[in-house]
Amino acid sequence: MQKNIAIIGAGITGCSLAHFLANTGWDVTLVESQDDIASGGSGNPVAAIYPKFMLNDKAYNDFMLKSFMFTTAWIDKSGLNKGDYRFNGAIEILEGAYAHKLEINLLGKMLEKEKFLSLIDKSMHKKYLIKKDSSGLFFHQGGWVNPIALCRHLTNHSNIKVITNQEIVSIEKLNDQWTLKTKDQKNFNAYHVAICNAANLHKFDLTQHLYTDAFRGQINWVNSTSFQMPSVVICDEGYLSPLIRDKHIFGATYAMNDFNKDLRISDTKKNIASIKEIHQGFHKHCLAQKKIAGRVAWRASPKDRKPYVGRVFNNQIFEKMRIRELAQADHLPWLENLYIASGFGSRGFTFAPYCSSVLANLINDNLSLEDKKTLNYTNPERYRLKKMSLKKVASQIFKV
Ligand SMILES: Cc1cc2nc3c(=O)[nH]c(=O)nc-3n(C[C@H](O)[C@H](O)[C@H](O)COP(=O)(O)OP(=O)(O)OC[C@H]3O[C@@H](n4cnc5c(N)ncnc54)[C@H](O)[C@@H]3O)c2cc1C
Repeated sequence: MQKNIAIIGAGITGCSLAHFLANTGWDVTLVESQDDIASGGSGNPVAAIYPKFMLNDKAYNDFMLKSFMFTTAWIDKSGLNKGDYRFNGAIEILEGAYAHKLEINLLGKMLEKEKFLSLIDKSMHKKYLIKKDSSGLFFHQGGWVNPIALCRHLTNHSNIKVITNQEIVSIEKLNDQWTLKTKDQKNFNAYHVAICNAANLHKFDLTQHLYTDAFRGQINWVNSTSFQMPSVVICDEGYLSPLIRDKHIFGATYAMNDFNKDLRISDTKKNIASIKEIHQGFHKHCLAQKKIAGRVAWRASPKDRKPYVGRVFNNQIFEKMRIRELAQADHLPWLENLYIASGFGSRGFTFAPYCSSVLANLINDNLSLEDKKTLNYTNPERYRLKKMSLKKVASQIFKV
């Protein structure tokens, strides 16, 4: 096998995939349209990392738990500077009865559950400076990471060549190799390609059926305060970070398919309002500021909120196949040497490193049973198969 790959998009997904492949002997060319890596969704000054569970979706919760456990352990042993991440806990404020049900439903079978999560109690109100009547969950291994520092750390590898300011506009296969063409008429050739370009995935002919919504999000931040602030990330409708590089970051807004790049005062006001229930002193402090800095970026999300990770069909062969043929998982017409990892929504820093590690195992033909289960769950062709009433095939592309 020719171990060279071009990866499109240098956010956390592209950077972590580049890292896993470079570590297994691949020559990686990471192509980014902006003038630096981590310039899209992955360019915020902080990303909260905690497992956001749902009450009645076991498959999603399993995926969330696997991603969270993998990613936190992996960041911890990655050699990232200790000042650029901290897993000293994360609080999710929730209505009391809901938090209790989640705790029972989710983790009934988990060993050492008390080391993983606790219901918020009086001692935590005091310790983490949250309102006395707050309820919710405390995730002991939750925390935060500096996204830009993580992306830089991951791509600092002799097998990874980073090329910026080059927007890929088409991907074509000629003989055995892929040719990636840029807006400036440059070509990159590689035997393998991975598309990690978030909400722009549908812009290539080969992947135009993989739709994601783009959710505009604005975050804001203010410098250190003279009063005491919580030492862990606290998430309610919005989130509030502890002091990270002299900033408290808070947010974020959520607006579907709104492509305005400018910071909006109305969104800053929304973000300030969202932290009122988390910390009233900080809320007042923000209201008193003359100017508040911030940043705007987009999250990419498929309709079912599951990312697209895996392979796609060869469209020409797919269109000629009958339903009966497609019903056999072994006969699905996968396009060779082209891979997708996109659509991580608002939990990219939990999901993407884990999914990139699974995708790297697929590319290296070294899948574990758990990897196969994950790829069945994130199969990018699930919509086309479901439309043909082949839902079962869509979730069983690998035998487990
Ligand atoms: C306001 C906000 C707050 C968030 N908070 C959190 C949080 O607290 N915790 C968390 O886990 N997640 C959070 N997220 C979500 C998280 O940031 C994303 O899930 C994650 O960054 C997605 O990473 P990515 O690499 O898939 O996409 P991106 O980081 O967007 O990277 C995609 C890259 O592809 C490049 N690109 C696109 N098209 C092309 C092309 N044709 N050619 C070359 N390059 C191309 C883009 O320029 C971009 O750099 C937040 C997102 C936002 C917007």
